[in-house]
Amino acid sequence: MEAGLEGLKVEVKEREDFAGYKLRPSLIVYATSEEDVVKTVNYARGKGVPVVVWGAGTSLTGATTCEGCILLDLSQMNKILEINDIDWYVRVQPGITLADLNNELMKRGFFLPPDPASSFWCSVGGAIVEGSGGMRAVKYGSFREWVLALRVVLSDGTVVKLGEPLRKNRAGYDLVHLMVGSEGTLGIVTEAWLRITPLPRKKIVTIMAFLTDVERAGEAMLELRRARVLPEYSEYMDVEVLRALNRQLSAGVRESEGGVLLIALEEDQLEETIKVLRKSSEELITAEGEEAERLYSLRAQAAVALKAEASGSKFLAEDIVVPISKLPEALRRLKELENKYNTRMPIIAHIGDGNLHPNIVIKDESIANELFEEVAMVAIELGGSVTGEHGVGIQKIKVLREQILRSNGLKALTLMEEIKRVFDPHDLFNPGKYVEGAANLK
Ligand SMILES: Cc1cc2nc3c(=O)[nH]c(=O)nc-3n(C[C@H](O)[C@H](O)[C@H](O)COP(=O)(O)OP(=O)(O)OC[C@H]3O[C@@H](n4cnc5c(N)ncnc54)[C@H](O)[C@@H]3O)c2cc1C
Repeated sequence: MEAGLEGLKVEVKEREDFAGYKLRPSLIVYATSEEDVVKTVNYARGKGVPVVVWGAGTSLTGATTCEGCILLDLSQMNKILEINDIDWYVRVQPGITLADLNNELMKRGFFLPPDPASSFWCSVGGAIVEGSGGMRAVKYGSFREWVLALRVVLSDGTVVKLGEPLRKNRAGYDLVHLMVGSEGTLGIVTEAWLRITPLPRKKIVTIMAFLTDVERAGEAMLELRRARVLPEYSEYMDVEVLRALNRQLSAGVRESEGGVLLIALEEDQLEETIKVLRKSSEELITAEGEEAERLYSLRAQAAVALKAEASGSKFLAEDIVVPISKLPEALRRLKELENKYNTRMPIIAHIGDGNLHPNIVIKDESIANELFEEVAMVAIELGGSVTGEHGVGIQKIKVLREQILRSNGLKALTLMEEIKRVFDPHDLFNPGKYVEGAANLK
């Protein structure tokens, strides 16, 4: 046993994340407590070896990649510590999966709304530091809106509690929300207080609108916004995604040329929604109960179905956001890129947020990367963002720089790099990722 890591389970093994990035750590350490995390951080700092946390490895941007690092696996820190049904928060360890947490909350009449399509798999800690969004963000926001307080291990080995489990709290700089979306570069989350809310009481109905062409998906969104419709979720899958679901999961869904909108809403908004969607659809279906759950679960499995078909090719899941008013133009420009590169980019979208996931599946890695950057440029040029929820990792440093330079200026980028140095002067956590090096990138 390595001196300094006594009592900890360790292993030497390679790993691969969902996106296919290979991880070659010098050591995997399994933590079962905050003390284990502190011990590992102190050990790593002493040796000058970086630390990368492994939540569940569902990152789509190479955020867990590590060459010779210590990979700190938190999956065994998976307890619910408290469900407070008066102050409406839950206190958890970071390794619990989001689905396990929500299953427990639902037994008590609550839920934690942000629901990435990887909920059945991803860890709560990963979702916090990735600032994950998912299907219900259109109504409830992403993780940013649900994190109240955190316990964090810093790179000097100290433990700090940030924030309070209060509905309102204006005390000092908002360090909690600096951690949300920090992608494991500032500190290690060992405990979280998350806001919870009662399950919806009104009846929710799901609509599937099979569209005649892709651009109608964007136009329908604009019309629903004008009509002040606020859905529970508002998702889109194009015809390539529907075909993959039928092939991989025998989903039995209609393969309409323009894809499908999957929208859930309170029953009293149904009539006006149907009025809007009827104009764009060749078929409209409404569902409730088990059938609605089946449709939701098919949407959640869409990326898995696409990945299963991508073997032998580079698979890059894009994550751009455009203003909702620009959705039709964005969809048009993605079509133009498909023609330019003579490829198809199956689109899954949290379309109600303007968040599009065109998936690039191309054998030649350099062509795939070139197209990936062109897609990101569409978002930048339309006043959007290169990432809505998957983050930057190692994939998007260049386009992140492009977005911030155009929209916020170089000072914003250097401020971000300075924040990294304040939190992590040892450059111990996830070095070389996210904002690090972006200001001076050529
Ligand atoms: C099929 C599929 C569908 C997806 N759908 C969505 C979606 O709809 N919406 C969405 O937002 N994302 C989605 N994702 C992306 C991904 O699931 C999320 O980013 C997820 O929250 C990551 O969680 P994880 O536990 O797997 O983190 P990991 O991949 O293990 O880690 C991600 C990053 O966080 C760091 N990290 C993890 N835990 C901690 C911690 N406790 N403290 C500090 N750093 C930590 C890691 O070091 C790494 O840098 C999807 C992924 C897949 C595979």
